[in-house]
Amino acid sequence: MNLDQPLNKLPFTKAATVYRMKKLGLATFWDLINYFPFRYENYSLISPIAKIQPGENVTLKGVITKTAMGITKRGLKTQQVVIDDGSGSINLVWYNQPYLLKILKPGFLISVAGQVSDYFFRRQFTPSEYEILKFPSQPTIHTGRIVPIYPETQGLSSKTIREKIFYILSNLKNKPEEFLPEKILLDNQLFLEFEAYKKIHFPQSMKEIEPARHRLSFDELFLIQLSAALTKKKWQKEKASFLYSFTENCKKKLENFIARLPFELTNSQKKAWQEIFDDLNRTFPMNRFLQGDVGAGKTVVAAIASYYTFLNHYQTLFMAPTEILAEQHYQIISNLLKKEGVKIALITGSKKPASNINDYDLIIGTHALISKNLQFHRVGLVIIDEQQRFGVQQRLMLQNKGVNPHLLTMTATPIPRTVALTLYGELDLSTIDELPKGRIPVKTYLVPKEKRDDCYNWIKKKINQEKIQIFIICPLIEESEKETMASVKAAKKEYQFLKENVFTNFNLGLLHGRLRAKEKTKLMNDFKEGRIDILIATSVVEVGIDIPNATVMIIEAAERYGLAQLHQLRGRIGRGNKQAFCFLFTEKTDERIIARLNFFAKNNNGSKIAEYDLHTRGPGEIFGVKQHGYINLKIASLSDFSLINKTKKTVNFFLNKYSELIDQPKIKNRLQIYNFEAVSRD
Ligand code: ADP
Ligand code: MG
Repeated sequence: MNLDQPLNKLPFTKAATVYRMKKLGLATFWDLINYFPFRYENYSLISPIAKIQPGENVTLKGVITKTAMGITKRGLKTQQVVIDDGSGSINLVWYNQPYLLKILKPGFLISVAGQVSDYFFRRQFTPSEYEILKFPSQPTIHTGRIVPIYPETQGLSSKTIREKIFYILSNLKNKPEEFLPEKILLDNQLFLEFEAYKKIHFPQSMKEIEPARHRLSFDELFLIQLSAALTKKKWQKEKASFLYSFTENCKKKLENFIARLPFELTNSQKKAWQEIFDDLNRTFPMNRFLQGDVGAGKTVVAAIASYYTFLNHYQTLFMAPTEILAEQHYQIISNLLKKEGVKIALITGSKKPASNINDYDLIIGTHALISKNLQFHRVGLVIIDEQQRFGVQQRLMLQNKGVNPHLLTMTATPIPRTVALTLYGELDLSTIDELPKGRIPVKTYLVPKEKRDDCYNWIKKKINQEKIQIFIICPLIEESEKETMASVKAAKKEYQFLKENVFTNFNLGLLHGRLRAKEKTKLMNDFKEGRIDILIATSVVEVGIDIPNATVMIIEAAERYGLAQLHQLRGRIGRGNKQAFCFLFTEKTDERIIARLNFFAKNNNGSKIAEYDLHTRGPGEIFGVKQHGYINLKIASLSDFSLINKTKKTVNFFLNKYSELIDQPKIKNRLQIYNFEAVSRD
């Protein structure tokens, strides 16, 4: 038996079980042992029935003397089984599991585990786990030990998962060979790999769990970073399709262009541009990730890079996640670059340039740009805005078209630097970590329920006096990236309500993801040009939208968002030079929720906010549940900065000292799991 086998090779396993495992992304034995428990029950105390104490977690072993069906006062069916172990007997009771009486027969020896309740102490016991034993000394799986509890999803019980993992771990003929060199094991005081697998699933004592978890977390972070480092090395051996040269002419034009921008670049922007510029002058393609808080000014940096590409007579493809954003970029960048002679085209689902696309120097559009049957002849640079990471597939698609351009990915998702370096290790990272001068931080308030009407009245006055505009963000119904019908319905209801009862004298608009592109664009234009005072929107309000006159935002049911998401929403306002206000509403009174929202209200720094959420709620909150392009860690924690640093150092050490090991099957096999080239994470 080896670990590469598919799960349908598991004996005594129903096809439905294999199917359900597949739905969890588990295909092989190896995958299954990498499905980890999230907690344990300690049932290792095996007690004589006569000696049990209230409150105890125990295992009882005895022979079944009697079984019967019972019924509670409320009409619930119970299954009653009496067992005897010589020291005494006890009545076991299950609720509503009639099939049990077909399995548990008088004369059978069974082992049961659970907590002894105070109330039924010594008269009755409700087991959490049971198993039938063929002989008294048979090793137990679900009782009589520390029992792992697995996340139950897709109709798979923790018990089934436990049983299958137990089978695999106890029947492996060849233990998988340790893949880490001994020196690394010793220096980091790590359990052997296979020991760690055994102990994370079936620890002999609670003390073994932490070191086992540590070893496996170490592996995960180490392999992710090693894989990224290898990808990066490989990338650096490639040749960019087109080489840039920084001529005197270029230099002059570029300097003039930067000097003529409507504002002076911040130091952060200058530094980011310098890093991009250095990359563009190399022979291998750039693969850079530009991170910057909302409103930090990434677009202008992208525009400079496009201009430099133009000066070298190459094309830039600039991709935005949505049509609205593509149009916005088109307008803003056209303002900056058209007078420099750059020919700019916009390609979206509804818009196409009349002439040959290869007549243009800068082509702005949605992702359709690369998937469409467009043939570009001289693409030097590809810029992708508001994207976690450049999709592996998209990159391959470009290579298939025979282009190997420089790549710049930009995002405003606030990620602590340490985390970014781990998750995006194959990319070079630039960070714009200061906001342009004169930007006034948004004032954020958590508004108590009873002040809602005051808040609405304040807003009405504000619109009348200052002609400002408002966003109202409707509650997020489902934590998924795509909005559901439910969210749309809620938004429609809110819109009707506000229109008829609250903001009767104002122009309201409703924006949600189910609108057609044309309708959306029209709405956004109406809002931009002031024909709409209040825009009610679902949380899909496009990231990156730039409407300086919108200075107030209301966020309903704010507790449903991760703080980083809230921060991105809030980033839609406060982009001009007026004081902006963000009002958070919540119906919840839970202290922790209030504390989180108050932290958010008091802080304006994206990465600080992200770090807070990372520590208090885990990484899921930062990236959203189904965000693209981030690795779902199986066991390691992204908030364990010290382990991240340790593994990072180990990667460097490994590459210096043991790089020849990379070609060996056992480490290759481990690396494959995290292989950025082979495995698409989109
Ligand atoms: P983001 O980084 O979120 O994409 P944008 O590029 O949309 O931010 O920039 C936000 C706003 O800040 C834009 O209106 C832009 O013109 C302005 N801006 C960018 N850089 C500066 C700067 N150095 N000084 C003043 N305003 C700037
Ligand atoms: Mg932007």
